Amino acid sequence: MIVVMEQGASSAQIDHVIERIKSLGLAVHLSKGEYRTVIGAIGDKRPEHQSILEAIDGVEQVVPIMKPFKLASREFHRGDSVVDVGGVKLGGGPVALIAGPCAIESRQFLRTVAGQVRAAGAAVLRGGAFKPRTSPYSFQGLGEDGLKLLREVGDEFKLPVVTEVLAVSEVPIVERYADMLQIGARNVQNFHLLSEVGKTRKPVFLKRGFATTVREYLMSAEYILSQGNQQVVLCERGIKTFETELRFTFDVSAVPVLKQNTHLPVFVDPSHASGHRQFVLPLALAGVAAGADGVMVEVHHCPEEAMCDGPQALLPDMFVELSKQVAAVAAALGRSMVKPL
Ligand code: PEP
Ligand code: MN
Repeated sequence: MIVVMEQGASSAQIDHVIERIKSLGLAVHLSKGEYRTVIGAIGDKRPEHQSILEAIDGVEQVVPIMKPFKLASREFHRGDSVVDVGGVKLGGGPVALIAGPCAIESRQFLRTVAGQVRAAGAAVLRGGAFKPRTSPYSFQGLGEDGLKLLREVGDEFKLPVVTEVLAVSEVPIVERYADMLQIGARNVQNFHLLSEVGKTRKPVFLKRGFATTVREYLMSAEYILSQGNQQVVLCERGIKTFETELRFTFDVSAVPVLKQNTHLPVFVDPSHASGHRQFVLPLALAGVAAGADGVMVEVHHCPEEAMCDGPQALLPDMFVELSKQVAAVAAALGRSMVKPL
């Protein structure tokens, strides 16, 4: 349920409602708007709860949330959420670019790519230190050494950094170095991991799984939100279908469907969706045209030497072109681009 307080309700009235919600055994999620306070009462509710809360002074109305994903739903929060990643704001209108290599490979290499993507307009740097690989014999990432390099290079180039966390046990270390924690497609329903990152106060970049429905995906976001972490960014990165020409099938329809159902920012990742660099640009444009809040892409200045996902890495000049064309599509829709810090 959402308890909508009257305009100008006093803090004593708000506190009383909060106490009452707790006494009913429900969790409280406070959302203070410019004019009104809205309080989410989430949990195993009973029919009489609505009338109890409606009777309290200062309460304007109590509205049930019909969707199973409560805190993620637009019923709970009508406006677009804006997520702050180390000072860069994602969501709420402007379009942002997150770019960088699939994996962190060395200091010099990361510095080169970081400088190139920043100059071309990327606002956030990506790079994996813990890589989820299909084969145990493939490069698994540099681990903590990679995290240190990412932090160092992010600071040098004034780019907040996002990197994947694979396991509950690695949350503290990734949290120490990263501005945003990425949960990859393969972990989208690792509920313990979702809860654990929900306990941190770092933004979370939650990829859609390649076999998760939009509803299941939003329930995964709900796991994070229900722990009190409101900073979640979603990302469509391709799903498995009968089509085999590309690595995955980019589900562009998920973008408007997600935007309608949730207030959380929605990104697209055309690199993993397509698996081939020549298809990254058109899919990025489609995603932004469909309403995405931003694009995450992989960039490498020497893809044939990449330790991971070389075929889908954009060359730096391709990223420059992508940035230009994404800005043009955004402008056609009356939207600006998020500038690097
Ligand atoms: C990645 O972003 O490097 C990655 C592994 O993505 P996904 O989880 O979407 O496959
Ligand atoms: Mn990759």
